[in-house]
Amino acid sequence: MLFDSHCHLNHKPLIEKLPEILTQAAFNHINGFLVPATQAQDWELTIQLAANHPQIYAAIGIHPWFVSSSNNANFTKLEQLLHQNSQPLLGEIGLDFVRARDQNSREQQIQCFELQLQIANSIKRPIVVHHVHATSACLKSIKRCSFTHGGFAHAFSGSIEEAHEWIKYGFLIGIGSLLLHQQAKKVRIAAQTLPLQNIVIETDAPYMSPKTKQYNSPNNLIQIAKIIANLRNIQWEEVAEITAANALTLLGNIPKPLKY
Ligand SMILES: [Zn+2]
Repeated sequence: MLFDSHCHLNHKPLIEKLPEILTQAAFNHINGFLVPATQAQDWELTIQLAANHPQIYAAIGIHPWFVSSSNNANFTKLEQLLHQNSQPLLGEIGLDFVRARDQNSREQQIQCFELQLQIANSIKRPIVVHHVHATSACLKSIKRCSFTHGGFAHAFSGSIEEAHEWIKYGFLIGIGSLLLHQQAKKVRIAAQTLPLQNIVIETDAPYMSPKTKQYNSPNNLIQIAKIIANLRNIQWEEVAEITAANALTLLGNIPKPLKY
């Protein structure tokens, strides 16, 4: 089976035709999804999706793009939902320094990230990290908060050295739709050389589409597995099985009946 470790099935347009999308995905051997929410308005829906669909796992959190629209009441609600529900991870959280160019907004993102790292610490759950031009700042926060529960380093595009930094802190390296762009060299090197047991695959659908003005589809996951297999000279099924097992192990082997 293939496991899409980062897919916004909770967002439009995917949510609007979810049954069709899940059926099509299963036809393409995609039988597992980690679905991250990005702001308070998504949280309950995302938890519900995981409750209703055996192949969906949830993550809830405040994405760095939505830091300024979040308040203390949101943090209280986030903690409550995480305590009431045993499954969701903390995500999608992190730092995006392309979006936050001045020191003030960067500080705001760091504060929001660290508050959520402390929540993750208190419930001992992994996190889903969005990190754009902010790897060292993310790792600094993780160290400062003594966060040790690992997680998913989403949409990895860095160097091998950076990947090993994440791995040292218990993270799986999310390799995905960037591979669908010929010019993305660094991610090709990562896909080719990192140990397979440290990699998970993802589409980030409906975002990060390989085609302009089109939504990305979770069905591109099979293409991503095939590109990685080609780069490593192995069968795509091996990439599929190992990366799915990596994701499920980090998710704590939560006994969800997966359809084959
Ligand atoms: Zn995302």
